[in-house]
Amino acid sequence: MFNYNKLYNKYSGDGATLDGTVNWLKKSTKLPSEVVEQAFHEIMMEVADDKEFLLPCPCGCGMTNVHTPLEHAMRTRAIEINQKAVAAYAKVLQDRETERMENRLKMLKTIDKTMIKQNKKPLFERSPVARGIRGLFHKTA
Ligand SMILES: [Zn+2]
Repeated sequence: MFNYNKLYNKYSGDGATLDGTVNWLKKSTKLPSEVVEQAFHEIMMEVADDKEFLLPCPCGCGMTNVHTPLEHAMRTRAIEINQKAVAAYAKVLQDRETERMENRLKMLKTIDKTMIKQNKKPLFERSPVARGIRGLFHKTA
């Protein structure tokens, strides 16, 4: 377990504090605290690996506080982490929807087999909803 305070020392020259940085990060990004904490941790790990976040701030903001490049690196990282999380979540939803469609299709095929046995027209031929689901599935598959 390393000491965040000790790592932060170099950036506290203008009176900035570790808590102040975390609070600013939460307020300025408005992202979930897990995302903010992950970004904070990742950048502090880079500080621990002797990476320096020096003025002028690479983001081009033109601010001159010693702690600004560190904070802005954390903000950029938090946004990146959040974008990845949002993309991963969208994929989970999409996979779940595909699975639901596959299950619905299996169910409809089973119903069709039953109907054929009973000498009725298959559901896919009779029902526009069933046709729609099959069409949608084949489009996305
Ligand atoms: Zn900046």
